[in-house]
Amino acid sequence: MRLGILGGGQLGRMLALSAHPLGITSTVLDPGADPCAAAAARHVRGEFDDLQALYELVKRSDVITYEFENVPVESAHWLAERVPVFPPPKALEVSQDRLVEKSFFESLGIPTPPFAAIDTREQFDVAIRDIGLPAVLKTRRFGYDGKGQAVLRTPADAEAAWATLGGRPLILEGFVPFDREVSVLAVRSRTGETAFYPLVENEHREGMLYRSIAPASGTGEELTERACEFALRVMTELNYVGVLAIEWFQDGPRLLANEMAPRVHNSGHWTTEGAVTSQFENHVRAVCGLPLGSAVAVGHSALFNLIGSRPDFAEVLAIPNAHLHWYGKEPKPRRKVGHVTLTAADADERTRLADEFVRRINPQVA
Ligand code: AMP
Repeated sequence: MRLGILGGGQLGRMLALSAHPLGITSTVLDPGADPCAAAAARHVRGEFDDLQALYELVKRSDVITYEFENVPVESAHWLAERVPVFPPPKALEVSQDRLVEKSFFESLGIPTPPFAAIDTREQFDVAIRDIGLPAVLKTRRFGYDGKGQAVLRTPADAEAAWATLGGRPLILEGFVPFDREVSVLAVRSRTGETAFYPLVENEHREGMLYRSIAPASGTGEELTERACEFALRVMTELNYVGVLAIEWFQDGPRLLANEMAPRVHNSGHWTTEGAVTSQFENHVRAVCGLPLGSAVAVGHSALFNLIGSRPDFAEVLAIPNAHLHWYGKEPKPRRKVGHVTLTAADADERTRLADEFVRRINPQVA
């Protein structure tokens, strides 16, 4: 079996690494000269809308998937006419546009923060009145890691936000005074079999994922079941195949959908050591038409991203149960260059190890 992957970043690399023991060889399409996934996969160099490069990928693939959601939808459709493409291109369409995405959640009865489409200054003023402050103004497309958004706390903030973001299609969302952010990772196979990882608790700093713990602490069965049921609604509606991540704001007993990613997700990196089957392997299994593996957690895990700088590897590995994943990328400000997963038998040990990691390594969003 030959797997084609659009995108050659760390997610592509970890997918290829998980495909390898299953006897599946991977080829990534990426415009870079030496993308990080090229260490684990063959590499076709080209833009994501370059038909010649796409054709080259088709020739080398029995099935194609993607590792980021900003793949041009036209390219995904073009590929899908030639070779199976999973998750379905429709999932890309939904996740690429925050307005389409929130409307999609709403159509399935999945709660979201209040939102309004903004194209003009007039609509902006009306939406501020309707939704109230604080609120968050976001670009509808190509926003990630907190880019392309501004928090409005007072009417005066509206001017500055409009000056920076105005002129593009936007969405205004009510600011959710959430208790915490959680995500659910689910996977669906080509035969409709599903599996759900336990709820993950995520801490963001400066708009980037800093730390995840799994299973999330103090989560009742009811909350987990609700998140999984919502994910199932999305997957069923899209006839989805592969791993799907949905990020939520938890506000008391309420879960409000923030966004979905039709791919393996940073908040699921702990599954490599912390679950019976990793998200990467389950994604590969799903898109390649294989049975899914168990998504049950093995003990308790904490995941820290390494952002912008390289820690002392020996220092990291001296921490008990620390697993280092270095992506082989040049450190740059706000660039994810690796992650560390700490595995523990129980939640208390996880807290101890995470505290030790922070004390000794002091990971920063640099
Ligand atoms: P996003 O790119 O939409 O995931 O936003 C990045 C981060 O900004 C989120 O993880 C939240 O911490 C924060 N954020 C985004 N939207 C909202 C909102 N409507 N209310 C409160 N915080 C938000």
